[in-house]
Amino acid sequence: MVVIGGSLAGASTALLLLRARPSLRVAVVEKSASFPRRVGEATVEVSAYFLSRVLGLTQFINETQLTKHGMRFWFANPGAGTLPECSELGGRYLSRLPAWQVDRSTLDEEVLRRAAAAGATLMRPAKVRQVRLHEGGPQRVTVESGAETLELTARWVVDASGFTCLLARQEGWFRSNQAHPTSACWARWTGVADWDGLDLATRFPAWSQACHGIRNTATNHVVGDGWWAWFIPLKGGDTSVGVVFDQRRVAWPAGPEPLGRRLKTFLCAHPTAREILKDAEPVDGDVRWRANLAYSCDRIAGDGFVIVGDAAGFIDPFYSPGMDWLSYTATRAAELVLRTLDGEAVEPLVRAHNDDFAHSYGRWFDAVYRDKYSWMGDFELMQIGFRLDLGLYYMGVVSQPLRDGAKAFRHPVFSLPRSNIPYRLMAAYNRRLARIADSRRRRGVFGRGNCGRRYLLNGFLPDNSTGRPVLDALFAWIGLELREGWRTWFAPGVKPAHASGTLAVDPARPAAFSSQVVTGGTPAR
Ligand SMILES: Cc1cc2nc3c(=O)[nH]c(=O)nc-3n(C[C@H](O)[C@H](O)[C@H](O)COP(=O)(O)OP(=O)(O)OC[C@H]3O[C@@H](n4cnc5c(N)ncnc54)[C@H](O)[C@@H]3O)c2cc1C
Repeated sequence: MVVIGGSLAGASTALLLLRARPSLRVAVVEKSASFPRRVGEATVEVSAYFLSRVLGLTQFINETQLTKHGMRFWFANPGAGTLPECSELGGRYLSRLPAWQVDRSTLDEEVLRRAAAAGATLMRPAKVRQVRLHEGGPQRVTVESGAETLELTARWVVDASGFTCLLARQEGWFRSNQAHPTSACWARWTGVADWDGLDLATRFPAWSQACHGIRNTATNHVVGDGWWAWFIPLKGGDTSVGVVFDQRRVAWPAGPEPLGRRLKTFLCAHPTAREILKDAEPVDGDVRWRANLAYSCDRIAGDGFVIVGDAAGFIDPFYSPGMDWLSYTATRAAELVLRTLDGEAVEPLVRAHNDDFAHSYGRWFDAVYRDKYSWMGDFELMQIGFRLDLGLYYMGVVSQPLRDGAKAFRHPVFSLPRSNIPYRLMAAYNRRLARIADSRRRRGVFGRGNCGRRYLLNGFLPDNSTGRPVLDALFAWIGLELREGWRTWFAPGVKPAHASGTLAVDPARPAAFSSQVVTGGTPAR
């Protein structure tokens, strides 16, 4: 078997296969000589379970990475001039289930080391140039290693090439998700302020006292209209900070300045980022850009190949689901190969594999991400939507591996019939919140609660006790519908205005964030 790409998806799949079948011959071909830092740094409870309990990395991660304490969101409107005036949504205490902020360069290196220790042959640095697929027969993989070009032959190929999507692009299966045009710009930074440090605690004591947990090790999200930014601290002191925006709502500032400078200027229009990034600078040479983040693949398995991780599709980094997807695709890929090697008929397994992941991708996108960028910048709407999203994730998704262990990763999110009702519910409130956001924007009240409000959750559990807060949030949604949602019940939908590019600006108030508003339709690097 040949695995293309040795980072987390490829190395995990190789490790799972070799643990189950030590006699397998597995070659992992990895392009880089050593892994650079890369995005994909916040785990959530499901990917954390996979890394810790399925791959067995708990001790390694505890020793080398930071424990993550939930998600936190910061909102602003022109009334909010300073950090304490920004509305806050997040946890009051520390999280109850494990999750980490991971430096992927060290984490991926360790998983690859373990795959090699389990018996994989590592070819590195070596690049796969081409795969000649032959369904049901031997696959031929052309590899460049230094000056040499080698031809490998294998019954199975696992494509874990990440965003390169080697097989999908080669075979014409790659589909950009046109309904979700998002771009991202990010860097690792030095000099980022400590959210829990004495400086902020002294200057803003009431603000500091309001949260009993640790704000710094949460994934802090600074949110605006049509965009959000992550702040993820990494072991050793650097912080990963990047922005993701909906290209229909935000036009990226063009101009001659270096990308890192434009990133800082963009973020610092928000009072929270302005405070936290005051003395911060992006690490030289580590500023990255990617457009059109969302895509899927028409096929991710056939008789002789299977695609895992980002190479199999990507939706959106909001809520950090990338490594969840990776956990499901790697688990199922290993299972597909092992079952066929055990003599099961390949065709039904391949069909179920493609169907389950196509279903999962489509529903995951519809339920959680479609039009999300139109309402995520409004504190009041997010206060309802986040509680529902998170509560249902805990009850329906996080609870599965805690109950069933590694077996739970055989069933990607929303692939089982029992997820029909939660899927419909989530798609419904996400659509409605987007409609209400449009109406608020038209009436000039979008983001009216973004100043001076704080909503701190005590934390959810992955069991039925979360039903109560979910019910409370559902009633809050119904209340919102009765108070203002009725305005849009029978009105036709509105297409997103192109690239308004604001934080959450009430046009009736002074445009304190006008530096945020940029012109030009096409996001440019
Ligand atoms: C802006 C942004 C933020 C994100 N934030 C998060 C987050 O906080 N949490 C989260 O869970 N996910 C996040 N993700 C998603 C996450 O980065 C991915 O899900 C994850 O890194 C996928 O890992 P992978 O192993 O599939 O691919 P990659 O990490 O991209 O690895 C692919 C590997 O394949 C190798 N390769 C490529 N082509 C070849 C070739 N031809 N021959 C040999 N080797 C090859 C590469 O060198 C690389 O090592 C984010 C994504 C984006 C875009």
